[in-house]
Amino acid sequence: MKLLPSPLVCRDAVELVSDYLDGTLSRRGRRRLEKHLAQCDACTAYLDQMRATIAASGTVGPEDLPSDVVEGLVNLFRQYRSDD
Ligand SMILES: [Zn+2]
Repeated sequence: MKLLPSPLVCRDAVELVSDYLDGTLSRRGRRRLEKHLAQCDACTAYLDQMRATIAASGTVGPEDLPSDVVEGLVNLFRQYRSDD
């Protein structure tokens, strides 16, 4: 069984998330990201986590995430990628 090809891979999506939350992402980029989020639980979880982090700290950026959170996300992505 073959999954539908995704125009945006998770690594790209994660890079877009901070711009998305900053409000600096282009409309086209936002549409691509939202399309990806609609079918990717890992990136949706990542976005939620980033939102929560921003709400708590007022800053944005993967470097602001606690290391245990990053570790959890890495595992999440690994799980997701292993479905390929
Ligand atoms: Zn993804």
